[in-house]
Amino acid sequence: MVGRARATRAEVPGWCWGAGAGWRRGVTVSERSESAERAAAPKVTGESEVADLCRDLIRIDTSNYGDGSGPGERKAAEYVAEQLAEFGLEPQIIESAKGRASTVVRIEGEDRSRPGLLIHGHTDVVPANAADWSYDPFSGEIADGCVWGRGAVDMKDMDAMTLAVVRDRLRTGRKPPRDLVLAFLADEEAGGTYGARYLVDKHPGLFEGVTEAIGEVGGFSFTVNDRTRLYLVETAEKGMHWMRLTVEGRAGHGSMENDDNAITELCEAVARLGRHQFPLRITKTVRAFLDELSDALGVELDPENMDETLRVLGGIAKMIGTTLRNTAQPTMLGAGYKVNVIPGQATAHVDGRFLPGYEEEFLAELDSVLGPRVKRESLHSDKAIETSFDGALVEAMQTALRAEDPIARAVPYCLSGGTDAKSFQDLGIRCFGFAPLQLPPELDFAGMFHGVDERVPVDGLKFGVRVLDRFIDAC
Ligand SMILES: [Zn+2]
Repeated sequence: MVGRARATRAEVPGWCWGAGAGWRRGVTVSERSESAERAAAPKVTGESEVADLCRDLIRIDTSNYGDGSGPGERKAAEYVAEQLAEFGLEPQIIESAKGRASTVVRIEGEDRSRPGLLIHGHTDVVPANAADWSYDPFSGEIADGCVWGRGAVDMKDMDAMTLAVVRDRLRTGRKPPRDLVLAFLADEEAGGTYGARYLVDKHPGLFEGVTEAIGEVGGFSFTVNDRTRLYLVETAEKGMHWMRLTVEGRAGHGSMENDDNAITELCEAVARLGRHQFPLRITKTVRAFLDELSDALGVELDPENMDETLRVLGGIAKMIGTTLRNTAQPTMLGAGYKVNVIPGQATAHVDGRFLPGYEEEFLAELDSVLGPRVKRESLHSDKAIETSFDGALVEAMQTALRAEDPIARAVPYCLSGGTDAKSFQDLGIRCFGFAPLQLPPELDFAGMFHGVDERVPVDGLKFGVRVLDRFIDAC
């Protein structure tokens, strides 16, 4: 399936550098017609091949079920390595466990004394149920101006854009101003244990001298009006606590009195938590986002009255709304084994997310809402991260966006979830979500993430290629 597109691209270097030369030499008929055919072929550029690259990646099923039962990312890692090796790079494929492979390569910059820039993307995707979709989620169908399929926005789009830009720069002999490290990673959708986390812990040397990074869930557009299009650059991520709650009670016969029923106690605590609204906490990133939005809209936004603000944001409100406070959502319940037996124990699972700087407050408040009967255990936790929205790299984003979209304005925002950026921050790397995409205002972009009929506009990909290329020139 991926062969056709690859063969087309493989012909290109010969055409680029050989075209026309034969005519001056005096050539045979067969050489001439071949040469004429090549001259008539459209020139391959990053923009012209980005949709093919995205489709090829979608066709490689890299579903990550979180329990190691998926097909693994090896094929995708090999595909990526092939695309880079075609232009003389020597990418490394690093396997953390069988089939769980990531691809890393360093591209030398003009000034090797400058610190490096990391561009990272994950190649795994969340599973998809084909029956729900308009097109097979692993067919990479190109229809209605979009590439459809699981991973189209999360995040084989950015993987393809990165490949397209880098291949184009290699094809045309344009070095980046400083070292670039490209990392195409396994296992982001299950916390990165077999991808980013593994590389940071076991192979930190790959990222030697890297001080800044760009990755996913940022750089996408939100059209405010015909004078302003905001591009949301991720500068912060909430942290997480996945927990198990347990209440121990008195076991007994279901027909008898029992004033210490574990299920009753637990359910009361879980219901209190589920209905609890944590207080509004405006972090510096959210404050900056709201200020920019106020300015763009020309109206004062009152954080105490966020309903109006969120209404203005339309589809992306669900991404922004939960960055205004800590949250804790009950997600699983477990107790009992027979209808006439009161069990001695009941459990619940809770997905907790806290804002940068509010972890302690979050846990203390959680415990006070749950009360003394509930035992709380942490199953998995990860930190919140936040960087400031300033410096030369941010300038490079603004400049690159504005060159391709005169009404562009890059603004910082906080992501309610987490990405591989959390791992890279452990190496002292400043991380930004910047995978530039210009989106039609009617597309429910937030709904595309892990959603049915995930798709990305081809024009959006091409825009992203142009912006990334300019961004690299300016980085
Ligand atoms: Zn992702």
